[in-house]
Amino acid sequence: GGKERGIVINDDWPGYSLELFNYPKHYSGDLECVYIPHGVIMDRTERLARNIMGDLGDHDIVVLCVLKAGYQFCADLVERIKALSRNSDHTLPMSVNFIRLKSYVNDQSTEDLHIVGAEDLSFLTGKNVLIVEAIVDTGKTMKTLLKHVEAFRPKMIKVAGLLVKRVPNSSGCLPDYVGFEIPNRFVVGYALDYNEYFRDLNDSAEEMFPQEAWTLP
Ligand code: 5GP
Repeated sequence: GGKERGIVINDDWPGYSLELFNYPKHYSGDLECVYIPHGVIMDRTERLARNIMGDLGDHDIVVLCVLKAGYQFCADLVERIKALSRNSDHTLPMSVNFIRLKSYVNDQSTEDLHIVGAEDLSFLTGKNVLIVEAIVDTGKTMKTLLKHVEAFRPKMIKVAGLLVKRVPNSSGCLPDYVGFEIPNRFVVGYALDYNEYFRDLNDSAEEMFPQEAWTLP
């Protein structure tokens, strides 16, 4: 389809040396590099917000944030949509809701996918829904979620994904709005975890780290 790939990060992108950024001491030794600097994530998010406003402006939307990894991206994206809304003739009345899905055990995507909390999404009926996900890997999570959400007959469903992995056997599900297309590497930070570690790598400096050099505590 004509969907945008976002900023494409090539397979040979080495990231930035950790020495060039601040990061918490308790993670020293566990991280290989800064994969995508925080400022770049923010700038890209600002543009996605503009694209979303252009497509959905003047419709009421229900944002469905996919927890836990999606919380940071969702918060930043909603913040930027609000800022645009304040500064233009378009307005985008929004409500934000949360859903939790779990598919990962360690770094393996499992078949077993559960929706935790908010099983009853009847409040989506007839609404324009923006699903916000941090990362799409195989696309299984997105596919399951779309099927679940569609059952409640929303008027429209759009998906925003900060990161999309370049993987061969994806489910064919791709977000409508993509921040970055990345190689098939495991990344953490910016609310993305590894068994709950690394979510706190989200403030000042950097945040996307591939897994290669990890030795977890
Ligand atoms: P999918 O169903 O698309 O294979 O996997 C999507 C989910 O797996 C994401 O919502 C995320 O929770 C997790 N995931 C996939 N790749 C990564 C990764 O590189 N890092 C982290 N932290 N989580 C990932």
